[in-house]
Amino acid sequence: MSVQTIDDLVVLGRAAPEPVDDGRHTVCLGGYSPSEGYVRLYPTQKRMTELKRWNVVSVPVESAAPDDTRDESYKIAGSKEDWDSLHNKIQKVGRLDKSEQIQLVDRLAVDCRNKLNEAHDSLGMVNPETIINYELEPRDDQTHQVTLDGTRQEGKTEYKHKLYIEYQCTDCIAKTSHRQHCIEWGIYLYWKKNDDYEGVFDALKLTRDDYKHYFFIGNLTHRPSAYIIISDIRFSEQDMLEAGVAPEGQSGLSDFS
Ligand SMILES: [Zn+2]
Repeated sequence: MSVQTIDDLVVLGRAAPEPVDDGRHTVCLGGYSPSEGYVRLYPTQKRMTELKRWNVVSVPVESAAPDDTRDESYKIAGSKEDWDSLHNKIQKVGRLDKSEQIQLVDRLAVDCRNKLNEAHDSLGMVNPETIINYELEPRDDQTHQVTLDGTRQEGKTEYKHKLYIEYQCTDCIAKTSHRQHCIEWGIYLYWKKNDDYEGVFDALKLTRDDYKHYFFIGNLTHRPSAYIIISDIRFSEQDMLEAGVAPEGQSGLSDFS
């Protein structure tokens, strides 16, 4: 299998860790490379501290086919054989400052789930013009995965709720609004420390009028027409003005009450 190096990968977000066999976990990463376009990379590990959002990294990759045939999907080269030293393969080569983050995301945010679905694109960035609603739904498949030695594995299925966000994107081509499950890692970090499940709305600043949200969305391997929000990327209006990007257009829930 041919190995290539992507040396300009901007980390946009990582999903919650998922247990895999024999006590290991994997974290799926989504990012954008100016040379390759959108990139989904796995398996990544929590100890890969270089993979913080907005870091620019260099990583050797190979195609994720046949397990995952989406064009944007890559595996870290040698991920099976070199699992224990996999973190050594990732090098941080830079980091976007706040203005660069805002300018990149605002430039990328031209997608709509329906456009992506028609083009069979598995990752994209949307600029929600309106966030219509956010709510928790009970998870009907709550499980605790347990490893062979009896320790509990963390994973998003151990939490009682799922966060759904309903929105309409700017220049949306859908006839109805979008309603998507949001798996932003920050949600699970919040729920791990707080019993107040609904506090996550504040934690994600969904309740704040002075924050602008962008959604990094992607589809599911086995249900390609189902898209979820991988990351809720949010900036304060103040930071946006300083970056020269007008935070116009987004109205919050208060306009609907
Ligand atoms: Zn849309």
